[in-house]
Amino acid sequence: MPPPQTSPTARQFFHGRGLLSEWHPQYEYRPGQQEMAEAVEGALAEKRHLVVEAGTGTGKTLAYLIPAILSGKRVVVSTGTKNLQEQLYFKDIPFLARHMNRELRVSYMKGRKNYLCRQKVYDAEKEPVLAGLEEVADYQVIREWEKTTEMGDRAEIRQLPAGSTAWSKLDARRELCSGQKCAQFERCFITRMQQRARESDIIIVNHHLFFADLAVKDRDYEGIIPDYQAVIFDEAHEIESVAGDYFGCSISNHQVEDLRRDITALARRKNFGTQELDRVLMTLDECADRFFAVFAGKEGRSGIPDRVELRESCEAVYQDLLRVLELTGAHLQLVKGATDELIPLNGRVEELRQTLQFWMESDDSDFVYWIERRGRGVYLEATPIDVSSLLRDKLFDQVDTIILTSATLAVGGGFEYVKTRLGIPAPRTAIVQGPFDYPKQALLYVANGLPDPRSPSFTESASEEVIRLLEMSKGRAFVLFTSYQQMRAFHDRISFEIEYPTLLQGTGPNHALLDEFRNTPHCVLFATSSFWQGVDVPGDNLSCVIIDKLPFAVPTDPVVEARVRAIREAGGDAFHDYQVPSAALALKQGFGRLIRSRSDRGVLALLDNRITKQRYGQIFFDSLPDYGFTMQINEVARFFDV
Ligand code: SF4
Repeated sequence: MPPPQTSPTARQFFHGRGLLSEWHPQYEYRPGQQEMAEAVEGALAEKRHLVVEAGTGTGKTLAYLIPAILSGKRVVVSTGTKNLQEQLYFKDIPFLARHMNRELRVSYMKGRKNYLCRQKVYDAEKEPVLAGLEEVADYQVIREWEKTTEMGDRAEIRQLPAGSTAWSKLDARRELCSGQKCAQFERCFITRMQQRARESDIIIVNHHLFFADLAVKDRDYEGIIPDYQAVIFDEAHEIESVAGDYFGCSISNHQVEDLRRDITALARRKNFGTQELDRVLMTLDECADRFFAVFAGKEGRSGIPDRVELRESCEAVYQDLLRVLELTGAHLQLVKGATDELIPLNGRVEELRQTLQFWMESDDSDFVYWIERRGRGVYLEATPIDVSSLLRDKLFDQVDTIILTSATLAVGGGFEYVKTRLGIPAPRTAIVQGPFDYPKQALLYVANGLPDPRSPSFTESASEEVIRLLEMSKGRAFVLFTSYQQMRAFHDRISFEIEYPTLLQGTGPNHALLDEFRNTPHCVLFATSSFWQGVDVPGDNLSCVIIDKLPFAVPTDPVVEARVRAIREAGGDAFHDYQVPSAALALKQGFGRLIRSRSDRGVLALLDNRITKQRYGQIFFDSLPDYGFTMQINEVARFFDV
């Protein structure tokens, strides 16, 4: 009798002479990877939640993908970026399928704006929606591709420019989709994406899609991700902020303008325009202008000191806007022989009306209400102060297994911070080490002689220190700042004094700056938080990362302020329980840019010496990998062998 067939275990894949080493000639055994895979396997089998910090270089994607496949459950894998989604789907999954010698039922889902709307493509042939030669040229490319593509994902058309305005007129965004009433519904790329997901065991999404879906389900709508038994969050340090965005709400002047424009365009195309509708839409414009003008002010994010006072000061313009939104909705309802395309527009009118009403009138003290101004845009935002109870109710208590992983989750060697912030009930936890030899590969230098970063003389003295460091590293550096203002001040002071090429964030798209950095020997990039995470420059071109200050969240930011207040009111210590841990994780992220492979080597320099002078500094040290450490600049010179 043949022996009974047992399914393979994670151990059989990952141990020193396991299947991976047979499949992959360059595969190197990493104990941390095996440890993580076994922890993931155990959590899935025993229906437990798991938080696992996996150092850079652990190989964590295979360490969760293989146990997820072996579990036979439907598992959603949620990544921080679309790029990582694509890497899993187009690289890791085919590698596993090839070697496991079986078809893996895997699909990916992205947000609707990534997919083409077939109906709009067909309509564009008959109706004048395109403007200018560029849009017409892009349309031709899209039109041809539509005939052959299976997925309808714009990432397939590499030649389409990143900001193609033709694409934004043709994408499958919800605001203009008539759903099941659409003639293309059965062939629609969104329908097909959902169909593939329903037939899959592993569904790869990103955090934005995941929380958008969870928030929609929360409002009793049908979501787009089918039911699942487990979720694995990669880059899980991002989920508090993404969840906050989707469980909150937002209304802006741009949304009202877009709505007015879309109604006008549809009325013209479908011939239902009337003078009366024109008048209503003009009034909508005027009322929105008057209402949002109340919130004009300094660029950036700000809180509202007194909501009652604010409400009183704009009651009249608010009521006008509310009424004209109702009137707009009523007009759309009355359109004779109503076209299906009116359905989503009606939905948008109602959604805007409800959001406006919530933002102005809600007394829900679980939310912080605040304003952001960017250029011409005025955004009225409501964000949950604490997402932990929401996540516990909607996610951790509903799904058998939630696994969170990232290189930055533990503070001072423990997970109290992430457990509390996210509301994870009794998870298993693990810290697995990556394969790097940090004491040899990286030297952490704290500039101990500089003034306190809050002192007026800091910028001048610290700039001179940066120049010294850049001379030792021969450029090849990221200089990262906690604010734009500081970034510009340092750049202006330093860029003419060094002989190396410099790049400044904001002077081009981030990905283009990063490409230029990679391709320019001895380059120095001055940047802020967008380059603190998810950026990879292996090799010599990045040999020094300099950070100006301990990255405490700006205390006057309305969301941070509300969270600090809420912790204090509950009797907690906001500084030690929230501000220090979140800054420690951010610092770990920023410094994490330097060592991306076993052969990388370099210096991490911190210009803020509160880390050695204040008691809380120890938490930062305890949270960082075991880098070499010095406060002597000549040690830096020796490290670079100058
Ligand atoms: S169902 Fe919606 S997204 Fe799909 S083709 Fe029709 S209108 Fe476009």
